[in-house]
Amino acid sequence: MPVKFKLTVEKARERVAKFCQKIADSNLNLSTWGNISCYLPDEEQVVITPSGMSYKELRPNMQVVVDMKGEVLEGELKPSSELKVHLAIYTHRSDVRAVVHTHSAYASALAVSGIPIPPILEDMAALIGGEVSVAEYAMAGSEQLAENTIKALGDKNAVLLANHGVVGVGRNLEEAFDVCMMVERCAQIYILARLAGDPKILCPEDVSALREFYLYKYGQR
Ligand code: 13P
Ligand code: ZN
Repeated sequence: MPVKFKLTVEKARERVAKFCQKIADSNLNLSTWGNISCYLPDEEQVVITPSGMSYKELRPNMQVVVDMKGEVLEGELKPSSELKVHLAIYTHRSDVRAVVHTHSAYASALAVSGIPIPPILEDMAALIGGEVSVAEYAMAGSEQLAENTIKALGDKNAVLLANHGVVGVGRNLEEAFDVCMMVERCAQIYILARLAGDPKILCPEDVSALREFYLYKYGQR
């Protein structure tokens, strides 16, 4: 029997810090904006980035550990101002173990225009599971934003936040980060496709089949 890997608080802080460096090296965010978290199901705790800190400087011991009510359990720094959004997602989606929030440019252009990204590419359908809808506008950090986010996210892996940015979720940090990269790439392609002509959208049956294949058959298993 293979030994099942258990994510400890210490490991989770290391992993969040690793993805802070990946965000810093990506083109997804400007300055300190955006945030990252991961969920520890056994402990019912969340490890989340501190608010308003430069990604390059974020080390494992600077990541904040909170319970599901948002009480800080470990860490000296104030947790992300979007903590409510992260907690709401973990509460409503038992399949989600990581959340990445970004302000990437092309996705934000669509979020500003209130234009959802339909399922236009096969890899997008596989990873995200369908359309990236736009959550109704609410002020950053508000309870209302958390409510609007989970409503528009549904069972998909990404959502656009009106006049704000992107939230990507996944079974681990790699997946949530890839979702945010995918949303940005699809936003860029969708804008170009709309300029070029009349984008063709994948049908719901193909989207479901692509998603099923990705979840249960794709890759080495
Ligand atoms: P924090 O720096 O508090 O995580 O906030 C950034 C952000 O993107 C707010 O929406
Ligand atoms: Zn934000």
